[in-house]
Amino acid sequence: MKDRTLLMIPGPIEFEPAVLQALGAPTTSHVAPDFIEAFGQALERMREVWLCPSGQPFVVAGSGTLAMDMAGANLIEPGDKALVLSTGYFGERYAELLSRYNADVTVLSAPLGGTIDLQEVERELRANTYKLMTITHVDTSTGVRVDPQPLGALGQQYGVLTVLDGVCSLAGEELRQEEWGIDVALTASQKAIGVPPGLALLVAGPRAMAAFRSRQMSVGNYYADWSKWLPIMEAYEARRPSYFGTPAVNLICALNVSLGQILDEGMEPRFARHRRLGGACQAAIAALGLGQVPLDPAIAAWTLTAPTYPAGISGGDLLPKVKAAGAILAGGLHLEIKATYFRIGHMGATKAGDVLATIGALETGLRGCGYEFEPGVGVAAAQRVLVG
Ligand code: PMP
Repeated sequence: MKDRTLLMIPGPIEFEPAVLQALGAPTTSHVAPDFIEAFGQALERMREVWLCPSGQPFVVAGSGTLAMDMAGANLIEPGDKALVLSTGYFGERYAELLSRYNADVTVLSAPLGGTIDLQEVERELRANTYKLMTITHVDTSTGVRVDPQPLGALGQQYGVLTVLDGVCSLAGEELRQEEWGIDVALTASQKAIGVPPGLALLVAGPRAMAAFRSRQMSVGNYYADWSKWLPIMEAYEARRPSYFGTPAVNLICALNVSLGQILDEGMEPRFARHRRLGGACQAAIAALGLGQVPLDPAIAAWTLTAPTYPAGISGGDLLPKVKAAGAILAGGLHLEIKATYFRIGHMGATKAGDVLATIGALETGLRGCGYEFEPGVGVAAAQRVLVG
């Protein structure tokens, strides 16, 4: 029997063999011609994946939180007003982060499992002069997707910079950064981008770069400072060697491979595939009689599903049994409901067969916990969505 368990959490995810091969290749110098070419190409490809032809890409070693930090550190000056639109744990993190840079932060929180009320946002933008607004595209703690398009339009209308935390969405959920007027879209390597953890990635549009250039004060975070990194990104893209901090050579080579695969698939087919995978998983959960954290299926993410445990069954009972049956799932994250739900990731390299296998493993786990249902009902519901 193959000793392999599917990693179906909302990041890190299963990675493509060619990406892992690039990661395992002998490390070259960070100024070797091959590496300069790979880095330069990765930066060019980011604009295509983000759908932001006028954007400035940044790739820096670190996790998604560093990408959040870079946007905060470079765009906020003490006293700037910032509006955080929170749909869960990562919205709260952004509020805490911006406060560190002495922003004057207002948080607009959605009800748990709900999304952001656009009218409330517009009232707030009309009543106050904000410099920046953050949006969590998919909050990984609730599985709620916020529609960035109308928020980008509001940001343009009111002259407010929009920063999209796309850590759990980018390269999976539909995002058209430039067309939708999003000023910064950020992510990390380990989710739908499809590269093991270790890279903070973001694309900053012209309004964000202009705001950065017109700062009065220097950036209060040395490592995150765009004045240090911008010349490096520009140099590699011009295929010139450069140095500020040693780049994560192997991860960047792996990133270039993964971005190439993403563009080979094509952004539109990729968005459609994620929509299908999310739809299949969520149909299975409903057919099994389990609830979900998002209050409305229309706002449930395509990249992860957040089902609630049946009455009387805990994560401690269920998740090890699902793992023994072949799929690793994640427990809850949102502090208020942590013990009541679990999470299934289905992004990046995830295939239809992975979702079917995961639902099969979930059925085995549920049966092992004594939960009553007709065996196969979840798999059948998923398959109906997958075959269209
Ligand atoms: N934002 C969101 C929406 C996330 O899902 C995560 C990670 N789960 C982060 C930010 C932080 O990313 P990292 O753990 O890579 O620092």
